[in-house]
Amino acid sequence: MVVIADILAARDRIGDLVRVTPVRPSPSLSALAGGPVWLKCEHRQETGAFKLRGAANAVLRLGRVAGVTTASTGNHGRALAHAARAQGLPAIICVSRLVPQNKLDAIAALGAEPRVTGDSQDEAFGEALRLKRDEGFALIPPFDHADVIAGQGTLGLEILDQIPDAASIAIPLSGGGLLAGVALAAKSRRPDLRIIGISMQRGAAMAASLSAGRPVEVTELETLADSLGGGIGLQNRLTFPMVRQLMDDLILLTEDEIAAGIRHLALEDGETVEGAAAVGAGAILAGKLRTDAPLVLILSGRNIDPDRHAAILRQTT
Ligand SMILES: *Cc1c(COP(=O)(O)O)cnc(C)c1O
Repeated sequence: MVVIADILAARDRIGDLVRVTPVRPSPSLSALAGGPVWLKCEHRQETGAFKLRGAANAVLRLGRVAGVTTASTGNHGRALAHAARAQGLPAIICVSRLVPQNKLDAIAALGAEPRVTGDSQDEAFGEALRLKRDEGFALIPPFDHADVIAGQGTLGLEILDQIPDAASIAIPLSGGGLLAGVALAAKSRRPDLRIIGISMQRGAAMAASLSAGRPVEVTELETLADSLGGGIGLQNRLTFPMVRQLMDDLILLTEDEIAAGIRHLALEDGETVEGAAAVGAGAILAGKLRTDAPLVLILSGRNIDPDRHAAILRQTT
């Protein structure tokens, strides 16, 4: 279980490791949405995504361990490597042979060891489990972990400090750690505040699980919102019930709608974000999200391949 006191404690704990990120209005998106739209610029967080909040909180809560490990190559792996280095702890990021060399280099550049095992994400995860069992490592998962959720929740506290009259928050949704934490923080102060989750149509595991009434697996498909891919875990304990309880609306976007969000944020608002972070803008542009009261979009990360970003800006659909 996660309660608001955990999020308040996390905020005190992680202050030295994370930045307070800026918020700014978006006049162009406000005009399209029908009411004031604010951008929470969490893509300017250290390591390029909000995940540092959860990883930092989890690392700082550890007792004596040999090191930390996880099987994520994306923003969580990056965040965990950074937080571990700041604490002088060894970090091993377990990856499969399918992970390209540039990602391994990025992990090593953050001071962590990329450990290549097996031909699938499952086998990589098996190595992380082994490190936990045999070598005294702490396994920090990307979302379904109370300390991770509490850390992500600090973003919700920050939003309400910065935009006290926020009426709704639009949150990119994958495993649900971000949404669960932010929603718990925001609704404990403002029970009437609306929480809107946004995922891609292609392979959204949380959306499929909510429809099924229990965690289910979906086929993973390539998507521009790559940080929103992956399952929620058939053994999900925390984020599935929290998202089910705390989320008011769910919006799903096509690939073209996500691309339009990336393009609009770059060309109209001057913000370079990855696909996962562009879903709020994409939803407004698609006419799927309107508001007459202050709406906050969480720009959750900026880690997109520069060539890919440039190619999206050149498209005109
Ligand atoms: C991880 C991530 C998300 C989704 O967070 P969950 O806690 O898995 O729902 C959204 N945006 C970015 C940039 C991410 O890295």
